[in-house]
Amino acid sequence: MSTRKFKTEIKQLLDLMIHSLYSNRDIFLRELVANAADAIDKARFEALTKPELNREWQIRIELDKDAKTLVVSDNGIGMSEEEIVENLGTIAKSGTKAFAEALSSGSAGTDIPELIGQFGVGFYSAFMVANKVEVTSKRLGEEVAAVKWVSTGEESYEISQADKPDTGTQVKLYLKDDAAEYLDSWRISEIVHKYSDYIAYPIVMAKESTKEDGSKEIKDEVLNSQKAIWLRPASEITEEDHQSFFAHLSGGGKYWKALPISAEGTNEFKALLYIPEKMPYNFLFPEFQKKGLQLYVKRVFITDECEQLIPDYLNFVKGVVDSSDLPLNVSREILQENPLLGRIRKAITSKVLSELKKLQEKERDNYVRFFKEFGKILKIGLYNDFSNQDKLKELAMYESLNGDAGAMISLAEYVSAMPETQEDIYYITAESRSKALASPALEVYRSKGYDVLIMTDPIDEWVMQVLTQYDKKLLKSVAKGDLELDAESRKSLEAEAEQAGKDYAELVNYIKEELSEHVSEVRFSGRLTESPCCLVAEENGLNARMEKFLKSMNQDLPESKRILELNAKHPLIKLLAEELKDAASGEKLKDNIRLLYDQAVLNEGGEIEDLAGFSRRLSALMVAANSK
Ligand code: ADP
Repeated sequence: MSTRKFKTEIKQLLDLMIHSLYSNRDIFLRELVANAADAIDKARFEALTKPELNREWQIRIELDKDAKTLVVSDNGIGMSEEEIVENLGTIAKSGTKAFAEALSSGSAGTDIPELIGQFGVGFYSAFMVANKVEVTSKRLGEEVAAVKWVSTGEESYEISQADKPDTGTQVKLYLKDDAAEYLDSWRISEIVHKYSDYIAYPIVMAKESTKEDGSKEIKDEVLNSQKAIWLRPASEITEEDHQSFFAHLSGGGKYWKALPISAEGTNEFKALLYIPEKMPYNFLFPEFQKKGLQLYVKRVFITDECEQLIPDYLNFVKGVVDSSDLPLNVSREILQENPLLGRIRKAITSKVLSELKKLQEKERDNYVRFFKEFGKILKIGLYNDFSNQDKLKELAMYESLNGDAGAMISLAEYVSAMPETQEDIYYITAESRSKALASPALEVYRSKGYDVLIMTDPIDEWVMQVLTQYDKKLLKSVAKGDLELDAESRKSLEAEAEQAGKDYAELVNYIKEELSEHVSEVRFSGRLTESPCCLVAEENGLNARMEKFLKSMNQDLPESKRILELNAKHPLIKLLAEELKDAASGEKLKDNIRLLYDQAVLNEGGEIEDLAGFSRRLSALMVAANSK
C-alpha cells in the first residue's frame, strides 16, 4: 500500500466539496453514473473490434443501510493503477484551477454543482455526500492487477492492490451522517429517473418488495428507461427530459431551445440539438469545452467531441447526432474523415440557422437576449463561412445611434427605417457604446438624424472587412475614408470644405508640416458639426482600435498615419489662423496644434504618445486662460 498526496488544486477542490453547503447534492449520483456509462461506452467501443470483450453491459447501485454505504459499479473499461493515479489524483487538464477561477470570478455565483460537470471534476462531487470514498477498478483487456484507491478527501489518498475478479470499476461512498437520505431506495430511483433516464445501459438496483402472500423479496429492478432520447418522437419528450439530457451534455445549465432533427433519404441521421440559455462558465477556458457534437453510429457511442459535425461559430450548440449510414467498424480517426460527416454538418448548420431566423421573428425579445450571449460567436461565421453569410447577415443584431442603450436592430430593420435620401448603411466600431457615442465622427449623422450601427464586439473589426454589402447597400464606416452621406448633403458639405481649404490654405499647410510625423493629411470636411477636429482612417486603413489590437498581438506594424480633419466652423480654427499671421506666437501656435492633435487621438480612443508634453502644454494653456 502506498500513500500519495493530492495535487494542490485537487486539495482545494476537495475542501470546497467537503466544507460547503449545497442546494443540490443529488447531482453526485448523476456524475458517478455518467462516469460509469462513459466507461462502458469505451469498453463497448473496444468490443467492436474484439467481440470477445462483449458482455451484458450494466451499471449497478447498491445501498447498505447498516454500513451506510452507497456503491455505483460498472463493467466498463476500468482503470489500471497508473490511470487511477492520473485520473483521480492529478487532474491532467488542471480542471480545478479553471474551476476555481470561474468560481472566484464571481460569474458562476455559488452554484458549484452546476460547475462541476463543466470542468471535468465530476468524480469529486462524491465528497459532497461522503466522508470516505473507495474506488476499486480492474482494467479491461490488459493483464494488470485490480487496484484500490481510498481517500477521506484530505491531504492524500492510498493506493493498494485489490482483489476484483471482473473488469470494471466500483465506487463506494461512505455517506456522511447528513446524507442518510441517499440510503433510501425510493430516493435513489427518483434521482436516477430525473438525471439519468436516457443512459443507454441498464442502471440496476436490488429493491425489496412485498409479495402477494405478504412475504418480502429482494429483486433487481432497472431504474432507467434507457431510451435514447434522440430516437424518441419529439412529441413524447417532455421539458424535464430535455432539461436532464441537456445537463448531461453540457455539464449543467439550462437550455433555451431544443431542435430535434430527423433526416431521411440517402443521408439518414437523427439529431437532438440544444441552444443553451446562457454562455457556459467554461467557455472562457477553451480546453474545457467539448468542441463539436456527440456522435453515435447506430446507437453506439463513438465520440463526444466530433468537431466535423458543426462549424466553430455554432460551437455553443450542444447535442447528439446518430447516423445510420456511417460504418461502425473503423477507427475513430478514420471515421472522422468520412465525407458523410460534411454532409451532416451542412444539414445541421442549415437547420440551426433557419431555426434561429424563426426565433428572431417569433420571439424577438428572447432572440435579442440570445444574441447578446452568443452573437460574438455567431459573428465568426460572417467572417469565415461565405456559403452562409447571407443567412448570418439576417441574424446579426446591433445597437444603434438612434436606439436606446441595449436595444438592438437587425440590418433589415436598419434599412427599412432609412430615410429615402440615405444611400448606404453607416456603422461605427468602438470598445463600448459610450466610447462610440463620444466620437466626433458621428456629429454630422446626429445632426441629420441618420441612424448609425454601433459595433462593440472585437470581432466586428474583422467582420466588417468582409461584410461590405447588405441588400445591395454598402456598409460604410463613419470614421474611414471620405465623408459618407447622401449625394445632396455631401455635395454642399464638400463645397464648404473645399472653400475652407482655400480660405485657410496657409494654416492647413502649416499644420501638415507640424504634424507630418503623425498624420498623412490635413483637410477640412463636413463630418464635424461640434468638435474642432477628428482623426479618420484612410478607406482601407486601420482604425485606432484595430491598430491597438494588432500591436497587442505583437504584430510588426508599420506606423500607420491617419487623416486629421478640421471643422471650418469651429472658432478655434479662426483663432489659429490669426495666430499664424502673428509672427510672435510661434511656440504657442505649435503647442496649440499639438494639443489639437492629441485631443483628436483621445477622441478616437487612442493613446497620447507624449503624455508629459501633453500635460505641460495643457497646464500652460490653463495658466494663460486664467491669468488676468
Ligand atoms: P470527467 O468524467 O468529466 O472526465 P471526473 O472527475 O468525473 O471527470 O473523472 C475523471 C476521470 O476518471 C474520467 O475522465 C475517467 O477517465 C476516470 N473515471 C472516473 N470514473 C470512472 C469509471 N467508473 N470507470 C473508468 N474510469 C473512470
